[in-house]
Amino acid sequence: MNNNPYSWIEESLNTIHRADWYRSVQTINSPPGAVVFLSGQKMINFASNDYLGLAADDNLKMSAIEAIRQFGTGSTGSRLLTGDRQLHRELEQAIASTKQTEDAVVFSSGYLANVGTITALVGKRDIIFSDQYNHSSLKSGGILSGGTVIEYPHCDMTVLGKKLQEERQKYRRCLIVTDSVFSMDGDLCPLPNLLDLAEEFNSMLLIDEAHATGVMGKSGAGCVEHFNCTGRELIQIGTLSKALGSLGGYAAGSSALIDFLRNRAPSWIYSTALSPADTAAALAGINIVQKEPERRKRLWENVNYLQTVVKENLGKLKILPTQSPILCFELPDAGTALEVGKYLREEGIFAPAIRPPTVPTSRIRITIMATHNREHIDKLVDSLQRIS
Ligand SMILES: *Cc1c(COP(=O)(O)O)cnc(C)c1O
Repeated sequence: MNNNPYSWIEESLNTIHRADWYRSVQTINSPPGAVVFLSGQKMINFASNDYLGLAADDNLKMSAIEAIRQFGTGSTGSRLLTGDRQLHRELEQAIASTKQTEDAVVFSSGYLANVGTITALVGKRDIIFSDQYNHSSLKSGGILSGGTVIEYPHCDMTVLGKKLQEERQKYRRCLIVTDSVFSMDGDLCPLPNLLDLAEEFNSMLLIDEAHATGVMGKSGAGCVEHFNCTGRELIQIGTLSKALGSLGGYAAGSSALIDFLRNRAPSWIYSTALSPADTAAALAGINIVQKEPERRKRLWENVNYLQTVVKENLGKLKILPTQSPILCFELPDAGTALEVGKYLREEGIFAPAIRPPTVPTSRIRITIMATHNREHIDKLVDSLQRIS
């Protein structure tokens, strides 16, 4: 008998390899941008979350450097002990002002914002309804909360309504959770319908605006603004590490909600405060989102251009429905997705294969940035044309 209690790990890794599910890191050795160096090779980058090109922006860099000079590198403790700085509050007020909510609170990542908020709001006697395609952090939050979690089919409001009808009254509190822009698909949640259902069934609604903040809506406030739902009561979560070009997460909503989270969200109370550099960079990022709408305009011009040339030239590829800068080509299996990803890499294009278990079906996922130009997009379409 093999009595090494760790031997199952290697066996499990072998299984992962056999299924073509194995992943490893890819090191970029250049600043972030539309063009990067990946293991020494120059690549057009269609894999980044840096939608507005802020991660290498001079203004963000200078703000971070200045914050380090003034406040050092570490925040040295949790916000309730030694970690709190005026910068955190300024950032929270800027987020609340963009979202037009009463208040906001920043966490050390978007993942921690979701986990902390959901565990604070939901307990054993409560129920969560969760979209099947929700981000891992929303799912983890549900499990950690100890509440009952029911998944509904992706964006299916009929099934959600039916399940709410059947289950809601058996529980004390109810929370519906959803991505606003679905991160691995690019489509949007039906926010107005979700708000109506939440109201009808006396349920809270939490939406994760990770891929929407800075991107969706006229002023970049996210899908809440895109759907003209600004001011309706709900819980908005997001990240500082995508369009805002920094690191960290936030929750935004009513003063009472935010005050409650500061007292009850374990991932906020028991984790070290966001570093001065990350906080200052995010603050500079959100100021740019507010003051430079032309960046968002350029992003959407690129998105519309890609969609037009894809329709004209790549009719045979199966494109998943999208209303965001995320565009996915569905492929039959993980092996094919890996092959296409590799081919694109040889063409100088970085567009990763996304496979199970991250998503149910394998695909190539493309994200567009404000800093791409026409030649970048034309090259992508040209390379894809040769395999379609
Ligand atoms: C990226 C992402 C997160 C996690 O945010 P981090 O700041 O990277 O931890 C949460 N939710 C969604 C939908 C995301 O895409």
